[in-house]
Amino acid sequence: MRAQFTTKPDISTKYNMSDYFKLGPMVVLYVILISFSICALAVPVVASDYVSNFEWLPAVENRPPQVGHWNRTPTVIVCEYAPISEVQIASAIRFWEHLGYNFYTTQYKYDPLGKCTADNPMGYIIIHLISSGIRMDDSSLAQTHFYVDNNTKTIDWAKIYFRADIRDTVLEHELGHALGFLHFNKINHLMNQKWEMGGWDKNGLENKRR
Ligand SMILES: [Zn+2]
Repeated sequence: MRAQFTTKPDISTKYNMSDYFKLGPMVVLYVILISFSICALAVPVVASDYVSNFEWLPAVENRPPQVGHWNRTPTVIVCEYAPISEVQIASAIRFWEHLGYNFYTTQYKYDPLGKCTADNPMGYIIIHLISSGIRMDDSSLAQTHFYVDNNTKTIDWAKIYFRADIRDTVLEHELGHALGFLHFNKINHLMNQKWEMGGWDKNGLENKRR
């Protein structure tokens, strides 16, 4: 039976499943690319560099799928041009802290170690304004890339890109991806793929590992 909750249009990784099995016990790292779409009728565009390895994802125990966890406590950096205010990031961090997640610290437009421009900012969640080098579907509000060790299922880093018009729930939704959650297309749920069908329902997002 096919899964009820499809995430096919915008879950993409570097490897497809057949490559993954061929690689056997090797540590496979992959980037998951997810976008939060604004228009229900838009045809999602999959970046051509990536090959999806998720045809569909089952709804596990009727909660959003989570494909990775942080082993270290991530630091969040709001980078220089990111269209996020200090109040917005503080509120979004509090939202996830109430669900049992920890963040080491939040650096607001302060990046002494140059993590905002690092290729692999291990241990960080990096927040950017979308730039010309990043491809994003016109109907998307934001996009999150996160890097998961496919053997240990630990998340090494995440990068979030926003368009300039930030709306309610989008920052919290993208932080959800940065914490390993995929889409869950229940009406009014925070992790709904379509912004206008989403909302503040946080069912299944609590940290079960604390
Ligand atoms: Zn999303």
